[in-house]
Amino acid sequence: MTASTTSTEGGGKQRRTELKHLTYSGNFELKCTATVLACRLCSPSDEDATASAEQSVTKVEMNLDVTTMHPQGGGQPTDIGNIFSEGGAARAIIDRVSLDRETGVVTHHGRVESTTGGDLSENFSPGDSVSVAVDPSRRLVLSECHTAGHVVDSAMARCGKILPPTKGYHFLDGPYVEYKGSIPPEERGSLLTDLQAAFQDLVKDDIATTIETLSKDDAERVCNRLAKNFDFSEFGEEDVRVVTVAGWPCPCGGTHVKSTGQLIERGWSITGIKCKKGVVRVKYNLSKR
Ligand SMILES: [Zn+2]
Repeated sequence: MTASTTSTEGGGKQRRTELKHLTYSGNFELKCTATVLACRLCSPSDEDATASAEQSVTKVEMNLDVTTMHPQGGGQPTDIGNIFSEGGAARAIIDRVSLDRETGVVTHHGRVESTTGGDLSENFSPGDSVSVAVDPSRRLVLSECHTAGHVVDSAMARCGKILPPTKGYHFLDGPYVEYKGSIPPEERGSLLTDLQAAFQDLVKDDIATTIETLSKDDAERVCNRLAKNFDFSEFGEEDVRVVTVAGWPCPCGGTHVKSTGQLIERGWSITGIKCKKGVVRVKYNLSKR
């Protein structure tokens, strides 16, 4: 393999990537134009005749000034999609997006292909303008999955179980939300029935999602209105993104659908409760892919 690296002038510290999808309108924008800050291409060597099909692709790691692609994190899987060079001569097919939490730099990982048969190394140089396009169908189902997790929170509150959330797993292979606390065994059956009904009511009410950026103090006031559910001590001094789904606010960095009614089509519902060692896990899923 031969690697070529292009990076920002002087190779110094990179600036944070602006995450467009964190604003309200940006949550629903799948495309943006961006500028390449750094790009590392790793192509198969011409002399390496033994390269397998896997090795014969040109891999890429690219940093941009801004992106609409959600990096994996906060319990939500990575977006996938394409980054097109200006003029469309090359395409980077992105299968993973990662965020370095310390630096705030997002890296788009994938492979590149030339659409014209031209030299790939002439594309994606620092300063080049590119077009970012998130895969819309995957984004939609992941946003539904994440939003449904918030609806579980709201359903729990509606059923009088306001417990501190400890984990959200919004992956399609078996999503769930976990809370600190316990439910007596004799209550679990009726709670599940009540939660399922509350979830469906909240979905039928088609409640609009709101996304706001608040000061840390305001975010704490809004999110801990009914109970001290969230610990803001780990938050820095920066503003906090507060997402309200089904009337229930919480600090969140994921992507969401515009209203709970969008969970009807794929038949999202609560599927089970499990209690173990002071953790309540509420499982939910879709019924139609
Ligand atoms: Zn969220």
